[in-house]
Amino acid sequence: MLHSIENSDTLRKVRRADSLVLVLNPAITDTTAQLSYLAAFTNRQKDACEDYWYHPDHLGSSSWVTDAHGEAVQHLHYLPWGEDFVDQRANSFDGVRYTFSAKEKDSETGLSYFGSRYYSSDLSVWLSVDPMSDKYPSLSPYVYCADNPVKLVDPNGDTISLLGDDWESALAHMQKHCPNLEISRGENGCLSYSYKKGVKFNQKGAAIVSDEETMFCKVIDSKEVKVSLTANYKNVYTAKNGKQYKSNMGGGFLGSTYNGNKTADAEQFVSMILLNKYYASEDIGRLLLHEATEAYWGGERAIELQRNTCVPQSNIFGQYEECGDYNYAHNKAISQPTTRFEKFMSRTSYDLLLYHLGKGH
Ligand SMILES: [Zn+2]
Repeated sequence: MLHSIENSDTLRKVRRADSLVLVLNPAITDTTAQLSYLAAFTNRQKDACEDYWYHPDHLGSSSWVTDAHGEAVQHLHYLPWGEDFVDQRANSFDGVRYTFSAKEKDSETGLSYFGSRYYSSDLSVWLSVDPMSDKYPSLSPYVYCADNPVKLVDPNGDTISLLGDDWESALAHMQKHCPNLEISRGENGCLSYSYKKGVKFNQKGAAIVSDEETMFCKVIDSKEVKVSLTANYKNVYTAKNGKQYKSNMGGGFLGSTYNGNKTADAEQFVSMILLNKYYASEDIGRLLLHEATEAYWGGERAIELQRNTCVPQSNIFGQYEECGDYNYAHNKAISQPTTRFEKFMSRTSYDLLLYHLGKGH
């Protein structure tokens, strides 16, 4: 199995909470082989870290926990609604806190904390009502994952807050651009999503949706950055620092604040009247996803560099000065659609070219 360790395609690393998570190679179906594979991988990092490694199943629930030397210290299995089925531990190991669905389980009450609500895996119900329950009148508001816990997970949905006086129109555009997702807006404007009926999942348990939807879901599921995206109708926004901002072309990157402890807050602004002016209607959803993910990547950069990120300043000519943080975030984000102007320009230059080639008539 050693050869596949060199192949990054077979080993996915994802960051979760405060530790790295290794996802096992799904091509290896034999459990013993999986463990030796893990041991070989983690031994290469011997003495490099004191961390424990979570090895989640397709729902993100921790199944194996290994130490820095690749030794298995805990082995977990769950019943469908998250009750403990198997919990084997090494003598010296107290057990991990992040278990079912990768959520923290309180050792005294046995309740799992999902960010906005507590879940009781023994009773298979939430302790409080779903804040989005009016969207699902046929379901009990206490029911976990629409009674389909083997396939679905309940994401935290606390990464992107959609605020501002025109959030409804912004949300409608985003929803239109993500036909496989059901995007909801809950308390404090927090966005969350679920997969629409009929969405298929691959062997690794990942939903088969567009690349843009995948990135958007990944950003919503992240716990490190809190994005506040304000969609105002008019082109004016008062930032949290009290300063007023205007946007040139509809979107504004306002940088992010590093909070320490691997968390950051990012602020982003859009003016819906400008977006409607500069972008074709079918492109506005993608532009909004660009702005939301751009803010997110700015926050990731703040965490990586452990400092606040800069805001691009416009000079007296109205041009923006170079800003490394902004460039980084802009390039990592879902790509920005072309403006009506650019579309028109490229069309016009194409026509001109044809004209000069003598084919314009
Ligand atoms: Zn951008």
